[in-house]
Amino acid sequence: MYAIDDQIIDRARVGEDYLQPLLAAVHCSPHHRPRCLCSASETGGVDMYVARISGRYVLKRMPGTGPHHASACASYTPPVELTGLAPLLGTAIREQPSTGLTRLALGFPMARSTGRATAQADTGDIEAPDEVDVSKLSLRGLLHFLWDEAEFVRWVPAMSGRRSWPAIRRYVLMAAETKTTKTRDLSELLWLPEPFTVAEKADIAARRTAAFAPLLGPGKNRRLMLALGEVKDIAPARFGRHKLLIKHAPDCPFIVEPETLTHVRHAFGTEFALRQALPGSKLIVLLTFGVTAAGVAVADRIALMSVSADWIPFESVFEHTLISGLIGHGRRFTKSLRYNQPTTSPLASLVLTDTDPPTACYLTTAATAGPPPPPDPNLPLRQWIWNTAVNAMPGIPPTTRHISRTGPDRGLSPRHNAEEAPHSTPTKEAPTWPTHRTHPTGDSTKNSCATTSASTTT
Ligand SMILES: [Zn+2]
Repeated sequence: MYAIDDQIIDRARVGEDYLQPLLAAVHCSPHHRPRCLCSASETGGVDMYVARISGRYVLKRMPGTGPHHASACASYTPPVELTGLAPLLGTAIREQPSTGLTRLALGFPMARSTGRATAQADTGDIEAPDEVDVSKLSLRGLLHFLWDEAEFVRWVPAMSGRRSWPAIRRYVLMAAETKTTKTRDLSELLWLPEPFTVAEKADIAARRTAAFAPLLGPGKNRRLMLALGEVKDIAPARFGRHKLLIKHAPDCPFIVEPETLTHVRHAFGTEFALRQALPGSKLIVLLTFGVTAAGVAVADRIALMSVSADWIPFESVFEHTLISGLIGHGRRFTKSLRYNQPTTSPLASLVLTDTDPPTACYLTTAATAGPPPPPDPNLPLRQWIWNTAVNAMPGIPPTTRHISRTGPDRGLSPRHNAEEAPHSTPTKEAPTWPTHRTHPTGDSTKNSCATTSASTTT
């Protein structure tokens, strides 16, 4: 439920047309805060604000308040300190609730001299912790930010089978609507291919040509744009070059210069290997590109991200195993993303949101440090640790939060805004998965489930 202007509004009805005038009035009065009542019994509710997206007024959480919502609330987010987002807030990413806009500082060029070679990958953030620039977003950081903002990091069972490219495209574009860069709105810079149909092939190509037209303007510096999509192939082209093909855009290859390909193979070798090893996975690309006077699209910088069949990002076979198992067993979680941070940073892999309190799950190896201390002792959070270099996966903490079977999940949109009625109809506790087992190759206490160890923090 929400409290808006002394009215109590059912969460499931807040998107209905009759409430738009009320939300518009609140939008014009930025000091008037609606409140989410998901955890009202403990805190009196959590402040929200009204933003205007795609011509409609919507409620959004205030910056930094995600962990203060109940873990079942659609506005809940784990503490940002568990992800690579924390050091970027207030520097590379500046949220402005008064306007509903978020200013982004991009750490890569969106223009090129026409006489200059353009090829290189987005390598500045890979395996070089001392060189991470937290004042600007890398290309990979921007890809993670868009995925985060479109909420494709969040999973509840009702989302199963509901994610597809049209939904991904729609919500990534919506996420971009309220973001600005130093020179232009992000929505002016970002292109995602329309879902392809043979019948509309000509119209789709015409709209794409119109979208790329600003890249052909006069001057020494050519503008660049951003393209986001699922990689179909990177295949040899003639004259020593390659072409990157994005699904749904078979007639729009992006030329990749040899130097760019070398950088990409070095920086994203893991992502290529994961795509080959896990046939059901996908490879998501965010690239900057220009268009030559002859109309050829040429990639400038390239960043890649592995996602599962359900479009959840992952970084290793171990993480894919964890995610697939959780999805298969009907669990609820929020995936953490790395942004600019190197793989050696001890970030949480994901946070289980169906345990009480939420459980931060860490995957550690010999190369990574152990998980950091809890970011805020006032925010209840348990830890679960899997040292993948030593042991098989330890038991997953069982579901301890009671989930309503008749809640608003029924009305789930293809996106992800599934919501649950917290602490409503009690259900039988789910079994632990996988079952606890003995670890013949190591000390099981190092990896044990936080429910039974000193690593539990509440
Ligand atoms: Zn809430």
